[in-house]
Amino acid sequence: MRTCLIVISLFFVISSFAQTTTAHEHSRAIHFPDVPGFLTVVCDFHQHTIFSDGSVWPDIRVQEALRDSVDAISMTEHLEYQPHRADVPHPDRNRSYEVTSRSARPYDLLVIPGAEITRSMPPGHNNAIFIEDANKLLIKDSIEVFREAKRQGGFTFWNHANWIAQRKDGIATMTPTHDYLIKEGLLHGIEVVNDLTYSDEALQIALDYDLAIVGTSDVHGLVDWQYKIGEGGHRPVTLALCTEKTIDGIKQAFFEKRTIAWFNNTLVGRERELLPLIQACMQVKSASYIGTSQVVEVKIFNDSDVEYVLMNKSPYTLHANTDVIIIHPNTTTTIQVKTVEEMSNFSMDFEVLNAVTAPKTHPTFTLEVKTN
Ligand code: ZN
Repeated sequence: MRTCLIVISLFFVISSFAQTTTAHEHSRAIHFPDVPGFLTVVCDFHQHTIFSDGSVWPDIRVQEALRDSVDAISMTEHLEYQPHRADVPHPDRNRSYEVTSRSARPYDLLVIPGAEITRSMPPGHNNAIFIEDANKLLIKDSIEVFREAKRQGGFTFWNHANWIAQRKDGIATMTPTHDYLIKEGLLHGIEVVNDLTYSDEALQIALDYDLAIVGTSDVHGLVDWQYKIGEGGHRPVTLALCTEKTIDGIKQAFFEKRTIAWFNNTLVGRERELLPLIQACMQVKSASYIGTSQVVEVKIFNDSDVEYVLMNKSPYTLHANTDVIIIHPNTTTTIQVKTVEEMSNFSMDFEVLNAVTAPKTHPTFTLEVKTN
């Protein structure tokens, strides 16, 4: 009898737990669909370990990436700033990459060689990734170091141009040095998102100077603590639209600027990349009129982590919402649309308020609905 009671109560504990986890299905794995012609590859190319001013050994970065389902990472240690040097002598600046690569070997995780060129402004801090030898970047001249990165086939990007330690007003501002680097083909991208910050001005620089849009964590401590993963947060990353999930495929995507920053439930990118991604997320599963009414119930499956905030720009009004609707992540949301007449198909335009293509500019996508 006692055993029976224990079994029964255990059953209720397990089933109520199962219900809870189903109701709040939330996985920390970063999930986005592929888009026509491209794989969506999750990248975080600005991270630190104990080999510069970070607090962890590289194997922790590998474990964090696996938990977050990040596809590719880069440890970009400060070349010139080595605060742990007394305890961790660091004569070989490739060690962080080597140790990370070794830790990642058993897993499906790509490790990209990188380093952070750490200077006062200008040029401030810039990452060089896809490089061959970080030691050769220990060059005093702030322009020459970019030339060496280019000789190695590296991709360089301007880090946190909005950083208040180097720019008190937080306004990312072009400098003659950056202008020169871009004109010489020595600077290829800019962080519009760094850690917990986003910069409208950096996005405008990316658009004006035709640079890749980059988002990174720049994590120094633990991803879980910094981005409140346990409370449903996520680290900032760059989504690269790649023809193949390889180091070469990602490198090509970055050089061809097929990138989107994913930050604090917001997508930042050019329309060319953003619209296909948003379209791929939004799948109409069914649409049927309620009884004999002219109100159609549309079920939309959102195949992504984005909790989309949409503004209805179509001529139809909604039966259960105002003009602003939330499309929940990784599940189906139902909306009721008043089409006035019964229609076999119709389309609705939605402005995506939590996606940005330029400062104060949000993309609009079209949802094609076929009723059944
Ligand atoms: Zn950094």
